Amino acid sequence: NTRIVLASRPQGRVKPENFRIEEQPIPVPGSGELLLKILLLSLDPYMRGRMDDAKSYAAPVAVNDVMEGGTVAEVVKSNHPDYVAGDIVLSHSGWQSYAISNGVGLRKLNSEAAPLSTAVGILGMPGFTAYTGLLTIGQPKPGETVVVAAASGPVGATVGQIARIKGARAVGIAGGPDKCAFIKNELGFDVAIDHRAPDFANQLKDACPNGIDVYFENVGGPVWDAVFPLLNTFARIPVCGLIAQYNSLDLSGNDRLPALMRDILKKSLTVRGFINREFVDQRPAFFEAMNAWLHSGDVKYREDIVDGLTNAPKAFIGLLDGHNFGKLVIKVA
Ligand code: NDP
Repeated sequence: NTRIVLASRPQGRVKPENFRIEEQPIPVPGSGELLLKILLLSLDPYMRGRMDDAKSYAAPVAVNDVMEGGTVAEVVKSNHPDYVAGDIVLSHSGWQSYAISNGVGLRKLNSEAAPLSTAVGILGMPGFTAYTGLLTIGQPKPGETVVVAAASGPVGATVGQIARIKGARAVGIAGGPDKCAFIKNELGFDVAIDHRAPDFANQLKDACPNGIDVYFENVGGPVWDAVFPLLNTFARIPVCGLIAQYNSLDLSGNDRLPALMRDILKKSLTVRGFINREFVDQRPAFFEAMNAWLHSGDVKYREDIVDGLTNAPKAFIGLLDGHNFGKLVIKVA
C-alpha cells in the first residue's frame, strides 16, 4: 500500500518535503469491514487548510497521518453485508492506494450513469458547493450580474453556468488566456477577465456597467479589491473560498479584512447590513409585538429628556461622546 502522509506543517507555501511517501503492506479488513482499492483521488484547495494546525471547521491532518481526501474506490474484499467485491464507491480514504472502511459514509456509484470522476467534481463536492452557495446565498435573478473567480475550476465554472441558467449575466475571472477563452467559448460566460492583466480592475469595471449583484467569493486578495467598489446595494456575497490567502502565515496584521473574511468563511457567519426602511412591511407586526411587551413588562425603556431646544446642540454632541443615558429627547415645549 502506497500512502502519502503529512511529514511536516508548511510554513507559507506548500513544499514537496511537507509530504512523505510510505510503503506498507496492504491492510486486511476485519469483521464488518471492506478493503477498498482507490481508483481516483480528488485534490482540492481545502486540503491546504488541513495541513495547518489552526482551529477550523474541521480537524487538521496530524503529522505522520495520511493526507485526507475524497476518493472513488473499488471494493476488493467485503466483510460487510451491504457491499460485494466489484462495487464502486465514493469514499473519503485519502492519499493512499488501499484503505479499510467500515462502510460509514460510503456511497455506491454507478459508472454507467456518469463517469466516475464526476463523483468528486461536477456531481460531487465542488458541484454541490457551487449549486448551494449560489442559489441559497447568491440568489441570482434575471438580468443581474454575477461575478466569480477561479472561474475555470470546478466550483467557479459551475457557478457561472448556473447563473446563466437563472438568467443572470456571468462575469468570470480566471488566470491566463487559455482559461479565459475556455470559460467564454466553451462554458458560455458573458465576459472573461484575466486577473493577471495589469488593467484587471478597469476591465472588471467595464464588464460590470450596472455593478455587481452577486459576487461568489472564491479567492479574496486583489480580486476582492477590484470587486469591492463595484458592489451594488443589496449585493449578495457567498463567501466560499479565499485561496489567495491560504498560504498566509499570519492574518493578525493591521488590515483586519483577511481575518474577517476567514472567519466569515470558517464560521459561516451571516453578516448583512440593513437600513430599517427595507423592512417597512414588518411595521404592523412590530407595533403589535412591542405594545404587548410593554404592557406585560417584558420590555422596559429608559429616556434621557433634556429641557429646551437651545440645549439640543450640546446634548447632541454629548450623545456622540456617550453622555446621554437612554433615548435622548429634547423637551421643546
Ligand atoms: P480550482 O480548481 O478552481 O483551483 C483553484 C484556482 O484558484 C486556481 O486554479 C487558480 O485559478 C485560482 N487561484 C489560486 N490562487 C489565486 C489567487 N491568488 N488569485 C486569484 N485566483 C487564484 O478550485 P475549486 O473550484 O475546487 O475551489 C474554488 C474555491 O472554492 C477555493 O477557494 C476553495 O477553497 C473553495 N471551496 C469551498 C468549499 C466550501 O464548502 N466553502 C467547497 C469547495 C471549494 P486561476 O488560474 O483561474 O486564477
